[in-house]
Amino acid sequence: MRQNISELNHEDLIACHERAKQRYQAFQKRDLKLNMARGKPSPEQLDLVADLLALPVNKDYLAADGTDCRNYAPVEGLQGLPEARALFSQMLGVKPDRIVIAGNSSLALMHDIIVYSLLKGTCDSSTPWSKEQSIKFICPVPGYDRHFFICQEFDIEMISVPLGAAGPDMDHVETLVAKDPGIIGMWCVPKYSNPTGTIYSDEVIGRLAAMNTAAPDFRLIWDNAYAVHHLTSERAEIANIVEACARHGHTNRPLVFSSTSKITLAGAGLAMFASSPDNVKWLLARMDKRTIGPDKINQLRHVRFLRDEAGIVALMDRHRQIVAPKFAKVIEVFKEALDGYGVATWQQPKGGYFISLDVLPGCARRVVDLAKKAGIVLTPAGATYPYGRDPQDRNIRIAPTYPSLSEINQAAEGVALCILLATTEALLAHMGKPSSLNQEMA
Ligand code: PMP
Repeated sequence: MRQNISELNHEDLIACHERAKQRYQAFQKRDLKLNMARGKPSPEQLDLVADLLALPVNKDYLAADGTDCRNYAPVEGLQGLPEARALFSQMLGVKPDRIVIAGNSSLALMHDIIVYSLLKGTCDSSTPWSKEQSIKFICPVPGYDRHFFICQEFDIEMISVPLGAAGPDMDHVETLVAKDPGIIGMWCVPKYSNPTGTIYSDEVIGRLAAMNTAAPDFRLIWDNAYAVHHLTSERAEIANIVEACARHGHTNRPLVFSSTSKITLAGAGLAMFASSPDNVKWLLARMDKRTIGPDKINQLRHVRFLRDEAGIVALMDRHRQIVAPKFAKVIEVFKEALDGYGVATWQQPKGGYFISLDVLPGCARRVVDLAKKAGIVLTPAGATYPYGRDPQDRNIRIAPTYPSLSEINQAAEGVALCILLATTEALLAHMGKPSSLNQEMA
């Protein structure tokens, strides 16, 4: 029977620390090179779509409407091939005419839309965002570091709001947006959030759609990157944000994004935008100056490879068979190594690409640092918070998709050791002093 480490007397704590140190040093000697830092598909996952790159075959470059996809797009082609937009219509929850397919990176689309809003204003803005006195975004935390980088890059102040089991703390969000016209946007990863795996409840989505915002051009950046990335056979569904916002008279509020980065190829997929007719028109008017048209050959090969919604579902099932055992392995190793010690908690996500791990306050940076010195690269501590600052220094994002199952096993074992070592170290340092660490552990 394991004892909560915070309840050990000084002598037992020293012994526990020594044991952790010896095991850590032995682990270091294995001279491993492991990486659980970024959510990348593994080579086996990329191999699932090997045939995609052979398409289109037989020199058949013609889209359904006769467009030669090798050439510049006709004017209306800026929005993407109609059959490609139809393919992702169900996943995005809107009709094809409200979808834009552009480039390979949804993050680039989010970035550009924010830049366009800063320079030109949205279709509901009286002035460009950059001309406002102060502009702010709500950031549910923990969240996705690259969202936060975009805000930081353009001096958009970030306001952290805790992300709970059913989504962001809505009492908090509603109060903030109602009174502050400077709050012009909010990041949301509504299904299988990065990194917590949170699935926004219908109630939360309803409140996000209905809430009154002091800014008339407030936008929800609805980043549904993991819409079809299930880890169980449950295949969670969430409420349709576009319909919910329209019901409440906030038709232009949601800007929906997704991509095939983790469906087909992370470096050569398709990125999508979906929204109201006014927002689509507004975006196309900006894009029109930027490009003559998207890579239609890539769109065509995706249509021919994936075919329809059933094709996407079948492919995602094959991804799940590869990825789910890796998540299960991390959780199995953590349970075996850490259960009962009171040193860490972690999420068991039902989808997405990450496991969110919470260690005791003040320990996350040390765990990541120890892991690095033992040959395991993790996402930097703090990355899941705006400005890279986790106020409690406790959250660590684990990305288990890329390494092999045996590498995952070793990496999770190593991380668990680092947690034990960092915690005993911190407790010894605090022993005798009243500290938030000791209280937290009680
Ligand atoms: N959004 C989220 C929430 C992500 O986790 C990622 C990838 N890590 C992206 C966007 C990036 O998507 P894309 O490849 O389409 O730019």
